[in-house]
Amino acid sequence: MRTVSELPGLSGSTGAGSSAPELNWAGNYRYTAASIHRPRTLEEVQEVVAGASKIRALGSRHSFNAIADSPGSLVSLEDLDPGIRIDAATRTVTVSGGTRYGTLAEQLESAGFALSNLASLPHISVAGAIATATHGSGDANGNLATSVAALELVAADGTVHRLNRGSSPGFDGAVVGLGALGVVTKVTLDIEPTFTVRQDVFEALPWDTVLGNFDAVTSSAYSVSLFTDWSGDDVAQAWLKSRLSGSAASSDAGSTLAGEAFAAGTFFGGTRAGVARHPLPGVSAENCTEQLGVPGSWSERLAHFRMAFTPSSGEELQSEFFVRREHAVAAIGELRALSDRITPLLLVSEIRTVAADKLWLSTAYGQDSVGFHFTWKQRQDEVEKVLPVMEEALAPFNARPHWGKLFHAGADAVAELYPRFSDFKDLAERMDPEQKFRNEFLARKVFGN
Ligand SMILES: Cc1cc2nc3c(=O)[nH]c(=O)nc-3n(C[C@H](O)[C@H](O)[C@H](O)COP(=O)(O)OP(=O)(O)OC[C@H]3O[C@@H](n4cnc5c(N)ncnc54)[C@H](O)[C@@H]3O)c2cc1C
Repeated sequence: MRTVSELPGLSGSTGAGSSAPELNWAGNYRYTAASIHRPRTLEEVQEVVAGASKIRALGSRHSFNAIADSPGSLVSLEDLDPGIRIDAATRTVTVSGGTRYGTLAEQLESAGFALSNLASLPHISVAGAIATATHGSGDANGNLATSVAALELVAADGTVHRLNRGSSPGFDGAVVGLGALGVVTKVTLDIEPTFTVRQDVFEALPWDTVLGNFDAVTSSAYSVSLFTDWSGDDVAQAWLKSRLSGSAASSDAGSTLAGEAFAAGTFFGGTRAGVARHPLPGVSAENCTEQLGVPGSWSERLAHFRMAFTPSSGEELQSEFFVRREHAVAAIGELRALSDRITPLLLVSEIRTVAADKLWLSTAYGQDSVGFHFTWKQRQDEVEKVLPVMEEALAPFNARPHWGKLFHAGADAVAELYPRFSDFKDLAERMDPEQKFRNEFLARKVFGN
């Protein structure tokens, strides 16, 4: 039988209607939902959704804003069997939506398969990550939602829908669905044969050299990340994840460049790190995936952080903005000019590239993109004051904010950024006419009511 429990309080027990709501991973957001359902089967998910007046799916709670909250109840899929089913013939894997990427990656690797990319952390759920267009890096790599071949979704009336890429109308609108269309119970993802990766970190790359060669820098490996605090004349670190085997290796245009850098120990004016690094200055690299060019599995190198350890800092906030990649250098100029406002509040920033896609609410919809990520100190009031300043500076580039991180823009401004925005709203109206899956975040940032 399904279990319905009050959201666990942080200390002590709570009575009905008086629960102390659970916090998100970063601890900066306290869910207002009164209860959380933990179904164990698809039928129980259907029953819970059909019977609720307001409900939303909760993933692994790694978003930094109110996107996952519900004015009614929440449903977690953590107690569903991950049901990882690999289909070697179609090169796909099907998993329960609540499965974490780290769990999936381990199983795929042991079966000789791989995902094309991972986010910086493997701790996040598959359904929660694709719902917000979560991404890794790489000029030719789409965000994680672009690997979705099919979705199984429980709609507001409890019926089960299966949407397939290429044949189901609305599929491109439903994948980055912000939890607004239903509860995604299963996700089918593209996979490929396992491949080997090496990871190398270079330090203190002069900004002038990076900006003068931006395309060459980001195309020099399968996945490139630049870490900076926006002050000074240098980019602090460049992380290069290079594919050493597998079908994409031959098309890795930058492999020669990276190879030269490995041999010379320098990369666009930066010097190769002699010891493993954490992106945050002074923090132990123990939490990070293997570096120093040691070849090994994709599953232990494509993310920055290891599954068994705390990712990033833990005590932090995050924001991220995406611009067309041709605006990257100009946008970096704007952000560097704001360093007196940004740097004092910052732990570190990361610059990554994401390939264009056709998912309606993807932050890379229709455009090869560059993402500017900000890991902030946990000083939310001050961060919220600087966000509108940054968004204004990036407005000429139509910067799209990450759905799962902190941003200032409201629904009207966000609507301007997505050509298929009204189609998404229509799809949500059709899938959820009684607005069972709406919450205050969606009202403010998407639906404008
Ligand atoms: C340390 C850290 C590092 C991060 N690194 C990256 C990064 O490298 N790249 C990046 O892009 N982002 C990154 N993020 C952000 C993170 O990937 C997103 O916020 C992501 O949405 C979190 O997934 P989740 O499972 O925690 O979802 P939640 O935060 O729990 O929920 C997010 C959204 O997904 C919906 N959802 C969840 N499950 C379902 C379901 N089964 N059906 C329908 N909707 C569902 C929720 O309703 C909500 O709208 C990072 C976050 C942290 C804390």
